[in-house]
Amino acid sequence: MLTDIIKLLPDSVANQIAAGEVIQRPASAVKELLENAIDAGATQIELVVKEAGKTLIQVIDNGCGMSETDARMSFERHATSKIQKADDLFAIRTMGFRGEALASIAAIAQVELKSKRTDDELGTHIIIEGSNVKSQTPYAMNSGTQIIVKNLFFNVPARRNFLKSNPAEMRHIVEEFHRVSLMHPNISFSLISNDKQLFHLTSGNLKQRIVGLFGNAYNERLLPVIQQSDTVSINGFIGKAVFAKKTRGEQYFFVNNRFIRHPYLHHAIENAFQELLPKDSFPTYFLNIQVDPAEIDINIHPTKTEVNFQDTKLVYAILHAAVKKTIGQHNLAPMIDFDEPSESQIDFGEISKANRPINPPSISINPNFNPFDRVETKNSGHTSNFEGKRPENWRVLYDDNNVQKARTEADFQNDLNSDSISNNQLIQGKNKFLQLRQQYIITAIRSGLMVIDQHLAHWRIEYEKYLKQLERGQQGSQQELFPHQIRLNSEDAAILNEITDDLAIIGYQINPVSKNTFVISGTPEGFKDKDLQDMIEQMIEQFKRNSIDLQLQKKLNLARTVSKQTALKSGQMLSEQEMTALIDQLFACQVPEVSPDGQKIIVTLPLDQLQQLFKQTL
Ligand code: ADP
Ligand code: MG
Repeated sequence: MLTDIIKLLPDSVANQIAAGEVIQRPASAVKELLENAIDAGATQIELVVKEAGKTLIQVIDNGCGMSETDARMSFERHATSKIQKADDLFAIRTMGFRGEALASIAAIAQVELKSKRTDDELGTHIIIEGSNVKSQTPYAMNSGTQIIVKNLFFNVPARRNFLKSNPAEMRHIVEEFHRVSLMHPNISFSLISNDKQLFHLTSGNLKQRIVGLFGNAYNERLLPVIQQSDTVSINGFIGKAVFAKKTRGEQYFFVNNRFIRHPYLHHAIENAFQELLPKDSFPTYFLNIQVDPAEIDINIHPTKTEVNFQDTKLVYAILHAAVKKTIGQHNLAPMIDFDEPSESQIDFGEISKANRPINPPSISINPNFNPFDRVETKNSGHTSNFEGKRPENWRVLYDDNNVQKARTEADFQNDLNSDSISNNQLIQGKNKFLQLRQQYIITAIRSGLMVIDQHLAHWRIEYEKYLKQLERGQQGSQQELFPHQIRLNSEDAAILNEITDDLAIIGYQINPVSKNTFVISGTPEGFKDKDLQDMIEQMIEQFKRNSIDLQLQKKLNLARTVSKQTALKSGQMLSEQEMTALIDQLFACQVPEVSPDGQKIIVTLPLDQLQQLFKQTL
């Protein structure tokens, strides 16, 4: 006889499964416990850990405490005092709301909870282990809650073995401690690890909290960002560009005091900083975005670091404007290095105030260029094995389609565009291309002027080239004369191991010789960089960053990272031939307008706007 086979899981098993989602490591438990203490209205919170939280996590708060019944209830799944009906989900102001954390923690650890409400005579003491309540007894104590979590994952060896080294797990804990304490500077926090006090943060304002966490140096590094609008307000600090770090830097976004990751909004800030940040460095920011809770959806992921906004574009715009405003007001410009011609877009007024010499833009001219010579793209110095689609003539593409489409009704230059003018006549003189500040290529198009960022253009070209290679699995490599040895830390080594096969496809021959040491015997064709160690480290750094931020597919990610490295940089002088080749190749790309990270490659100045500029009164 056939019987029904579907059964409900026992609670203890269901809790263990749910726990896997909510509690991935000691730091996740720390986060949940700290947030509970905050939700309980505590003004003092103490966190104690031993062995990076693996053997002990203890949180002591002076919050509202729990009744005897509530204390027991708190360990039931979906038991929460914070929402009652589905609608409440859209008005969440507390940190927790799912009622899953304590149930999850109790499913995978040995837990002791002591709690007393202010008005109660006695508190209560519960011991619970693997979801089983062992005892509950009255307990004399001060008001508030103390929770002790011992031997996390004691009953889930697979998870326990998956945990990283103590220093690595401790870093996660400290990171959570940063996130939570940053947005609650009015609460005192302390962190004690293996009997050593790591932080003691007294209550204060956000700036004091940042300094408390990251050191006194931050006192002079921070600039306030304040922006109020009807729907969105932004508060916090950005770090001055000169202090930007080569690694990720301190980057904290909060929405309604909750830490979130948001690559798109991160981009708004990077973009606002764009011209000011030294190459390959990252901005520092601590920004809290306040919106009506109805405007956001935080229920996407149990660990709640992802948030959806109703109108992300609007938040992007406001954030971008707010950061730009701060940068402008505080005149960060004079702090960047003016000897570096590649950092352009400088307010020249500011420079003279700062008594620095003005470097006139340098324009390189190739006296041997003959515009009537047909330039062979294939022979140019860079991008040797490029094989994109090759339109006969990008100028046709560009002049007549894209630009015209974008134009306004004032098509005064229709007459200008009369067929009698050929492309070569658009600019009078010897050269079709001018190089400005060894960064931009300027040329005429029918409708006006076109300016192209050389680095971004070449990045796009290289990116599509590598992408194609990765898809086809083809190889273009040059042997290094003397194989190079590099040593990496173990985290980086693990990443490099993960990507060596794909790197081989695009021409890097990298072999591990020991756990953290690698030999590089081949590099992509045309690759000229000298310091391979630095290059690989930067590549790994970017790979980490991209894979964390954007979770791009591995291949896209790799192509993006490698192409950024091999792309022509600003500050490199280009011959007319090279510029022609570059631009031909750019317009043979699938997406010539945008760089792999979403920046504009091409800017046009239409003739009508140029004429307007001349009409403006003096
Ligand atoms: P959530 O925080 O999502 O409601 P938890 O499992 O983290 O779910 O906690 C369950 C409930 O236990 C909370 O809603 C709260 O009522 C109570 N609680 C947990 N920690 C504390 C604390 N430190 N002080 C007072 N009450 C607490
Ligand atoms: Mg909670």
